[in-house]
Amino acid sequence: MGNLKRYQMTIAGKKVDPASGEWFETENPYTGKAWAEIPRGNAEDIDRAVKAAKDALPGWRRTIATQRGHLMRKLGDLIAENADSLAATEVRDNGKLIAEMGLQLKYAPQWYYYFGGLADKIEGAVIPIDKPDTFNFTRKEPLGVIGMITPWNSPLMLTAWKLAPALAAGNTVVLKPSEFTSASALEFMDLVKQAGFPDGVVNIVTGYGKEAGEALISHPDVAKIAFTGGSATGKHVYSTAAQSFKKVSLELGGKSPNIVFDDCNVENAVKGVISGIFAATGQTCIAGSRLLVQKSIHNEFVDKLVALAKTAKMGDPMDPDTQVGPVTTPPQYEKILGYMDIAKGEGAEAVLGGGKATRPECGDGWFVEPTIFTGVNNQMRIAQEEVFGPVLSVIPFEDEEEALAIGNDVVYGLAAGVWTESIRRAFIMSQELQAGTVWVNTYRAVSYMSPFGGYKQSGLGRESGQAAIEEYLQTKSVWISMATEVPNPFVMR
Ligand code: NDP
Repeated sequence: MGNLKRYQMTIAGKKVDPASGEWFETENPYTGKAWAEIPRGNAEDIDRAVKAAKDALPGWRRTIATQRGHLMRKLGDLIAENADSLAATEVRDNGKLIAEMGLQLKYAPQWYYYFGGLADKIEGAVIPIDKPDTFNFTRKEPLGVIGMITPWNSPLMLTAWKLAPALAAGNTVVLKPSEFTSASALEFMDLVKQAGFPDGVVNIVTGYGKEAGEALISHPDVAKIAFTGGSATGKHVYSTAAQSFKKVSLELGGKSPNIVFDDCNVENAVKGVISGIFAATGQTCIAGSRLLVQKSIHNEFVDKLVALAKTAKMGDPMDPDTQVGPVTTPPQYEKILGYMDIAKGEGAEAVLGGGKATRPECGDGWFVEPTIFTGVNNQMRIAQEEVFGPVLSVIPFEDEEEALAIGNDVVYGLAAGVWTESIRRAFIMSQELQAGTVWVNTYRAVSYMSPFGGYKQSGLGRESGQAAIEEYLQTKSVWISMATEVPNPFVMR
């Protein structure tokens, strides 16, 4: 215990210990060993943080919007300056590749620049109202205190997606990161302070979902919950928030189809399918976990896929050459292995991997083998349920119609990939696929400029892009009468 780094939370601009006086250990997925201690915040801490955010709200929402944007751009600069060390913290905590986290942290400032730029472009409208002697206009106002709950796969990137539009819109914030990966967000709070944000505008409470998280989603003074995570927790967040009519945005799971037609550029499609499922060890909501491949090229395509996947270098995520790292959490590790057994039990054949990775370079970490199952049909659990690991299900199809039917036949609708050289097919598929994002001849591209979110049970609301700021605003209609006399008071105007 003694030599572990011990973190503190930030509430009202001050570094504080948790009310419980307790910390829990956070582990490095590559070594399986604890490396730091995270404050075990509880309902009392959430209450303090929400009060701080509520107290800071009048000052922050009245801050000149250009100044809010200026502070956000400063924060973006500070993240850029500290990107390497923040990325190293994330790799230590979530085991994702330094190659990936390094890029994410270098890219994350763009959300603060983009939404910082939008802060002073939030405009209402003058309505040419149908009443005489009356002036009617709208104001876009912040919602209030926003509770943000983030998962363990891309901690600071997913924080940026929520925090940047929320701050630009004039809201104040309480952030509850995942218990498994809280360290980078705790370090990030130092940059918020350094950038010069007023105390209480951004607060953080770490701790367990069932303690700190639960207290946040049920707090009466929280106006909205912005959540990214699993569908089961998302459902709970949604129903709890409904008790006090909080607004919600939910970014949940997926079972995204990556659809390969026989007219595609096969070499590119193979790479695209690999990046869709094995990047980030498959621990991404947009994982292309169902490969739908046209029957005419099925065997050739699977052979090429297996050949390339076999070359994936596993090992230390801090090594820039590593291509597949460990699984982030022990429960996730068990869940992935469980799904491999389920798939085998359902009759699928593992043509690659199919179990724990015991290669020497995997050490004591929580590694599973990149896995490809063939002989899958879309009704199997392995085709319907989110695994959140490097496990690909290959499902053959005959033609466009069948590809669409299978592609859309899941409760999710987060993303889809299409590989074809036909422009006609590209348009038809992108129009008919029920998914918030469709990639054609690419996969796993995201940007601060382009809206991201789910159809069906993959979530509610959109992050990134201009429309995302609306998720953190409400519209007020203001009526001003210029009439010199109020007519009959017993009728509606
Ligand atoms: P969760 O959905 O449980 O965790 C996401 C966030 O919700 C974490 O910050 C968690 O805190 C918090 N949380 C948990 N319970 C509550 C609660 N009762 N009230 C408020 N907040 C809560 O994800 P898991 O880590 O359990 O992963 C389960 C599955 O979810 C994965 O296997 C995967 O399928 C999916 N997932 C999807 C993600 C995505 O990007 N869409 C990201 C992560 C997971 P804490 O970590 O402290 O429990």
